[in-house]
Amino acid sequence: MAFQTLDDLLKEGVESRHVLVRSDFNVPLDEEGNITDPGRINASLPTIKALVEGGAKVILSAHLGRPKGEVNAKFSLSPVAEALSEALGQYVALAGDVTGEDAHERANGLNDGDVMLVENVRFDPRETSKDEAERGQFADELVALAADNGAFVSDGFGVVHRAQASVYDVAKRLPAYAGKLVEKELSVLSTVAKEPEHPYVVVLGGAKVSDKLGVIEALAGKADKVIIGGGMCYTLLAAKGYNVQESLLQEDQIENCKDLLERFGDKLVLPVDLIAASKFAADAETQVVELDSIPEGWMSLDIGPKSVEKFAEVLASSKTVFWNGPMGVFEMEAFSKGTAGVAQAIIDATANNGSFSVVGGGDSAASVRMLGLDEDGFSHISTGGGASLEYLEGKELPGVSVLEA
Ligand code: ADP
Ligand code: MG
Repeated sequence: MAFQTLDDLLKEGVESRHVLVRSDFNVPLDEEGNITDPGRINASLPTIKALVEGGAKVILSAHLGRPKGEVNAKFSLSPVAEALSEALGQYVALAGDVTGEDAHERANGLNDGDVMLVENVRFDPRETSKDEAERGQFADELVALAADNGAFVSDGFGVVHRAQASVYDVAKRLPAYAGKLVEKELSVLSTVAKEPEHPYVVVLGGAKVSDKLGVIEALAGKADKVIIGGGMCYTLLAAKGYNVQESLLQEDQIENCKDLLERFGDKLVLPVDLIAASKFAADAETQVVELDSIPEGWMSLDIGPKSVEKFAEVLASSKTVFWNGPMGVFEMEAFSKGTAGVAQAIIDATANNGSFSVVGGGDSAASVRMLGLDEDGFSHISTGGGASLEYLEGKELPGVSVLEA
């Protein structure tokens, strides 16, 4: 890897220097704003601890959810600051703004080994602007927090596929280094991207249908089988002529899906039964149904038991597995069995067949822990969904390339 890493920065020395770190604290929250899975916070600790030990003045930046460029208390990083303080065993102050007066005062007031967090970078519309000058202006403001002799550590693996101000533009303005998490993720994923042992099975699910249909195309070329469940399978089932009723459906993608089925039909593995629900709710009436029998006005919120069996069979002989996206609405107990079953099948393939298994995606990783599965049963749990997918597709990650420049 042709970039400098945190170890290089530590060798240079960070004592009394301001170090701006882009972390990934985009954790899932429940309705009351409690963190339901702290995985990404825990994954960010090694970099932060190393900087603290080196005596740096650490300024963390991150986003949470999609506040769409507006200040919105619902997306405040305050639960993160609290959880992080606890996990680090050291107080992490949260600035009241992103690059405003409070952030500056707090950054100036840091002592060696102190850690602070600026507010959600996506409170500022310039963070995700398509206009490089606009992003650059915001990046200048972030960089100003790190004063003279500052440095930038890119550790938010979940966002390195985005050319955003706090990820990409700041790296052009400060000496930039890959953090421990980014380094580790890339080293694991490069094995899967470059020389996956076959059979290589990709498991796709989740909700972001339009995002992921392109992924099927890219990965079908590399993988031996692509198993598809979750919210994205219904557009494919519709393309095969099934009436998916009120299930998640991207109508404008049906034609694309027909094309995918034609070209990669023998590689794509689709569900054979479903869990239909009367409504999108934990207490909905449910029924195990064949593909053509979702009751009128109902929706499918999980794959059925025969599908789990079929998917497990394909996974059992795999030598490499990459899984992104839950098979159903696992957050509700009634619709969690598909995800739990497939996750267990991957764990079994890892143990029994020596399969190299990687899970990527915020919700996918969270599901493993929330469903009480053995995290250590996978070879690697990635903190990045989109980032890991894009990397495996062979796309360039702007947040990584910028470190190589
Ligand atoms: P990841 O974060 O792992 O990349 P996504 O964000 O794409 O995954 O998707 C996760 C979400 O997909 C979960 O919140 C889950 O409830 C939802 N989901 C899965 N299956 C369905 C379905 N059949 N209908 C609606 N939502 C679904
Ligand atoms: Mg997600």
